[in-house]
Amino acid sequence: MSDLFTQFQQLTKGRFVPYTASLRKTADATFFLVRDQTQKYLIVIGKKGICELFEGQKIGEIDRQDVVLCAKNERNCESLMSLFPSLKPRTCNLKLSFGFGDRLGVATAAHAQCVQKEKLFPIFAQQSVREISRTDRNWIDVLHSAVWGVFESGYAGPFGADADHVKKIEDLESAAHVGYTMFTIDPSDHVKDPAKFDKRELVRFYEEHPMRRTLETKYIGKIFTVLGERLTFDEENFAEVFVTYIDAIEHVEKCYKALRAAHRNSFDLEVSIDETSLPTTPLAHIFFVQELVRRGVEFQTVALRFPGEWQKGIDYIGDIDLFSKSLEKHVAIAKMFTGYRLSLHSGSDKFSVYPILAEKTDRTIHVKTAGTSYLEAIRVVAKFAPDLYREIHKYALSRFEQDRASYHVTTDLSKIPDVDKLEDPQLASLLDQPDSRQLIHITYGSVLTAKKDGGTLFKDRIMRVLFEHEAEHYDFLKKHLAKHIQLLGV
Ligand SMILES: [Zn+2]
Repeated sequence: MSDLFTQFQQLTKGRFVPYTASLRKTADATFFLVRDQTQKYLIVIGKKGICELFEGQKIGEIDRQDVVLCAKNERNCESLMSLFPSLKPRTCNLKLSFGFGDRLGVATAAHAQCVQKEKLFPIFAQQSVREISRTDRNWIDVLHSAVWGVFESGYAGPFGADADHVKKIEDLESAAHVGYTMFTIDPSDHVKDPAKFDKRELVRFYEEHPMRRTLETKYIGKIFTVLGERLTFDEENFAEVFVTYIDAIEHVEKCYKALRAAHRNSFDLEVSIDETSLPTTPLAHIFFVQELVRRGVEFQTVALRFPGEWQKGIDYIGDIDLFSKSLEKHVAIAKMFTGYRLSLHSGSDKFSVYPILAEKTDRTIHVKTAGTSYLEAIRVVAKFAPDLYREIHKYALSRFEQDRASYHVTTDLSKIPDVDKLEDPQLASLLDQPDSRQLIHITYGSVLTAKKDGGTLFKDRIMRVLFEHEAEHYDFLKKHLAKHIQLLGV
């Protein structure tokens, strides 16, 4: 094996550095990834027939086989996926799964090194519609970036691809079309928070709803015993959960049917009502899942809204005990109906709740993270390109008020020190402080898509720094994500 790399180095006169872990073989060809000063390439060594599956340029021969230098493009990714089924995303086969969102598309090789494949099912491609539009990416790019990362790392276990927080049927269909294996339907636009609506309007909605009578007879008076506590639907609390969730349930049903029609294979379905202002009550959880089941929606995970604050990129804020009790109840309800797991979103950096999650769910849960990997990338910038970091930081400050609108955060900008007064080695510590973490986290879309002179204002330079300091970037990611996973008891 090392012989092959030696021959390759001789052939190319040391122009490329191979990623030795990426080596994969079929009966008649060998594949691995290399990099030069500016980018990465796929190397294919084999007979003509197999090389023709790939777009590339022959650069020589080793043992009378063609050596082809290929770009990391869509066609070559597809060809690799068809030769190596382990590079195709699959449905989840374990009770513990973890979403490694990667907004820059260069973190998967490091993420994969955090995973022991028998213990945790990883979702390496995970991006919400909102993230995709804020970063000018698309479903294929997100999926292929993850596949290239899996290839680079040599990871041979299964992994999934999650089209996250999808609100529209056409977005579900397009993700299904390119091979996603998990779909997170977000019906939050259809959740009616009673506090935000006119009371008379809600009463009329309830009284005139065609499903009202049927469901009243199914629920009112019904008793559910959850951890020894008797929960009963009465006229008042039933009307409230009905009004709050019925449109959302109908929306999920519609999405599910469209997805079934668009997707030939089996898939994992998640329903998320985490991005609402209302913590999900036990009765709401019962009503929501019972109604989905009754309508034939097959789902594997449900993301509820837990009490407390789940702000992006920082630890949990709130009463841990209250969260723990709420989680216990929801776990008991999920067990009562069986067949699905709970999912926890905004899992980035929620270190204080991870041990509770592990214990109370018996490690039967899905957790999603995303922003935290972006923050580790920016930590690399702060460390190795301090002036670029200062520029990004100031730009983020100028964008903050606008960008915070779609998040619930309590960031206090006055607590963030002036970057011009910090010494270079102090900059990275900004990524350890909640206020500056959130400043950088929330403005990622503005920073990554800012343009200048027909190019990008920051993104190309960020990617350059990450490429040049890849070992450090991967190290930061591994350490940080491994901490999450260890706290889940893996
Ligand atoms: Zn969410």
